[in-house]
Amino acid sequence: MTQSEALFAAAQKHIPGGVNSPVRAFKGVGGTPIFFDHAKGAYVFDADGNRYIDYVGSWGPMILGHSADEILDAVKARMDKGLSFGAPTHIEIEMAEEVCKLIPSMDMVRMVNSGTEATMSAIRLARGFTGRDKLVKFEGCYHGHADSLLVKAGSGMLTLGVPTSPGVPAAVAANTITLDYNNLDSVKECFAQMGDEIACVIIEPVAGNMNCIPPNKSFLQGLRELCTVHGIVLIFDEVMSGFRAALGGAQEYYGIVPDMTCLGKVIGGGLPVGAFGGKREIMEYLAPLGPVYQAGTLSGNPLAMAAGLAMLKAIQKPGFYDQLNARVQLLLNGLQAAADAHGIPFTHNSAGSMFGIFFTELQKVTTYRDVADHCDTQRFNQFFHGMLKEGVYLAPSAFEAGFMSIAHSEQDILETIAAADRVMATLK
Ligand code: PMP
Repeated sequence: MTQSEALFAAAQKHIPGGVNSPVRAFKGVGGTPIFFDHAKGAYVFDADGNRYIDYVGSWGPMILGHSADEILDAVKARMDKGLSFGAPTHIEIEMAEEVCKLIPSMDMVRMVNSGTEATMSAIRLARGFTGRDKLVKFEGCYHGHADSLLVKAGSGMLTLGVPTSPGVPAAVAANTITLDYNNLDSVKECFAQMGDEIACVIIEPVAGNMNCIPPNKSFLQGLRELCTVHGIVLIFDEVMSGFRAALGGAQEYYGIVPDMTCLGKVIGGGLPVGAFGGKREIMEYLAPLGPVYQAGTLSGNPLAMAAGLAMLKAIQKPGFYDQLNARVQLLLNGLQAAADAHGIPFTHNSAGSMFGIFFTELQKVTTYRDVADHCDTQRFNQFFHGMLKEGVYLAPSAFEAGFMSIAHSEQDILETIAAADRVMATLK
């Protein structure tokens, strides 16, 4: 028995499913989750002492690689001053200034402790601001686990939303409308029928939770225009794409200005941080300035702010994104060539340092249905386990995006491609 197997058995006694977040349990790919011990740069090391080249990066935050010196130093330097005050600190101002500078659509920002809190709070604020109740989301987008977001489409487009999880009241789900990603016609039809009841549209401007699916620019542009016409708050959930698609997020990459933005992952440098912000007139609706309530005991936590701020400084170094994105292209081109050489139907997507690989006959993957109905999950699972044996850690699900870090060297990527070539040879 490996250490990971022993730990997984022990974990299941007191932790539901042995994990504190479901995808970690390897349900999709099967087998025993790897228990990690430590990590440095592009590598994670498991409890059995195995090293893996890591393309998960804690699901996004580790854009500098693991245990980056500048982050650890910033946290250590801050630590001796106290861990939490529940009162304002200087570093929160610096963080807010930095965020609003990097993402100019954000006039003001409020810090929270997770992406879920960010989206949940942004939606409440949009509802309070507009005085409307309904919200629109897109199939395959994930925005955290708040009740109103764990909803799938009803049978017809404009029917009531249906909870995807027991515990979500039908009455809550009923206010959520789920439309097709990259399909502007469905948005037009929906807005024509009930535009004046809709508070907000929330969207991942690069989808990263149905594997990686970039938007059609005309879709995002059209969405922007339609929201303006109908007085609907457009919320970009950039928890994943923020500081990833580009320094200024997907909104910079595609040149589209949302009314509100949600952030997480990279902004915390690996500590639990989320943020939401946007136009001043909307943000001024938030307590204590305005009537919409939102709060947090540990929000703006000084250690988390120190880590996040060090991260935001580091990613502004000249050439950072060029190097990062070039690494992604090197990897994807190599994987594509390996698949082609072995006659394995395969394609890939990317936006900055987020990427997706697909075992599919499709030339291009653009919707949730493309992934769910036309990708070979079985083959992905085989590939995943083959790569794991080769010392490469990919996201343990065909529905998750991959993440590159600046710590991944060309050598790491060439090793990854060579491993993929060997594994693909066994997939036929
Ligand atoms: N929004 C998006 C786009 C995400 O990818 C995630 C998490 N993967 C969330 C929100 C929720 O963030 P958290 O897990 O920090 O609550």
